[in-house]
Amino acid sequence: MGSLALKNITKSFGKVEVIKGIDLEVEDGEFVIFVGPSGCGKSTLLRIIAGLEDASDGTIEIDGAGVTATPPSKRGIAMVFQTYALYPHLTVRDNMSLGLKQAKRPPAQIAERVDVATKMLSLEPYLERRPAELSGGQRQRVAIGRAVVRKPKLFLFDEPLSNLDAALRVNTRLEIARLHRELGATMIYVTHDQTEAMTLADRIVVLNGGRIEQIGTPMELYNNPANLFVAGFIGSPQ
Ligand code: ADP
Ligand code: MG
Repeated sequence: MGSLALKNITKSFGKVEVIKGIDLEVEDGEFVIFVGPSGCGKSTLLRIIAGLEDASDGTIEIDGAGVTATPPSKRGIAMVFQTYALYPHLTVRDNMSLGLKQAKRPPAQIAERVDVATKMLSLEPYLERRPAELSGGQRQRVAIGRAVVRKPKLFLFDEPLSNLDAALRVNTRLEIARLHRELGATMIYVTHDQTEAMTLADRIVVLNGGRIEQIGTPMELYNNPANLFVAGFIGSPQ
């Protein structure tokens, strides 16, 4: 369970319209990538889906139920940020547990879920450390673990690899792909890296200036870009 439907999502900051009527349906279990130039509205759209930002217009449905007015914690969504957003004073274990504690989950359930996520992400050696004692790649694995323990229907990733060096980027990308296979959860993932888009996506959504230029599988976009803009991002050399 974790389908998503966006209908005519629009967002203005003051007089500036940055999201201009986005319609999108994501199937349960799909891996969808948003690509597009800096400032085209990728993060804003993710934040609207997460409920961290209100849309100016339009509706959001998850599993067919309207969530446009549902608070973030009740949407069944977990978001992973480029900057990890871990609590510096908490251990890895406590960073991963916090959301479940706040949701008043039973301690045994919290311990079990943290244990599963810890194994899944190979975080056993780091559980009692604080974020400052971890590398960037380890921190991002903790941030992903914190999302996993919540068992969300929908994972949102906002450029999760862009602060990592090249080798770690490959590793973490493969780990996210494995997580997608193992969990079968729906994932929406923002990147401006063509390799990430081509290797992870079931479908790619190309955004430009708050609009969708094209949606398709990596091969569809690569072989049949709708225009030069898409070709510049994904397509075969012209
Ligand atoms: P992307 O993630 O694709 O780089 P963003 O979604 O961060 O783009 O931003 C889209 C546009 O909205 C940009 O022009 C940005 O300056 C503007 N914007 C984003 N957040 C705010 C905000 N809180 N207030 C005003 N403008 C914003
Ligand atoms: Mg962004």
